[in-house]
Amino acid sequence: MGRRRNAAPAISRLSQALFKPIIAVTCLIPLFIEGSKRMKRQKAFTLVELMIVVAILGALAAIAIPKINASSATAKANACSTNIDIMNSQIELYAANNDGTYPSSLSTITSDTDYFPDGAPTCPLSGTYTMDANSHRVSCSH
Ligand SMILES: [Zn+2]
Repeated sequence: MGRRRNAAPAISRLSQALFKPIIAVTCLIPLFIEGSKRMKRQKAFTLVELMIVVAILGALAAIAIPKINASSATAKANACSTNIDIMNSQIELYAANNDGTYPSSLSTITSDTDYFPDGAPTCPLSGTYTMDANSHRVSCSH
């Protein structure tokens, strides 16, 4: 029940964040039309018109920048997850090539160019990879 109570305001906040600039722009359209009529006479923007344009660009940037930052963090986490999957599969390949003997450490396999021709993978979130001695599975510290 607590989840449901929180979901509605979250949607409401999102729709407000999206629609406020749209409503603001819609309300300003008559000003732009009037401004463009005036421009035929004046051939220049007024200070108010420039301030409105700057305010709209600021509102759009305020919406876009956090979304870009969030998707960048998601992309880095997914790249780290892919690195872990690759290392796990290469560890299994190593064991298959060596009669079931797993590498003694992660660096044994990541420094081997037969398994990692481009060198050891690095975490885009600055974490370090470690291999569990018993399960032979890789995890990241980030
Ligand atoms: Zn990581």
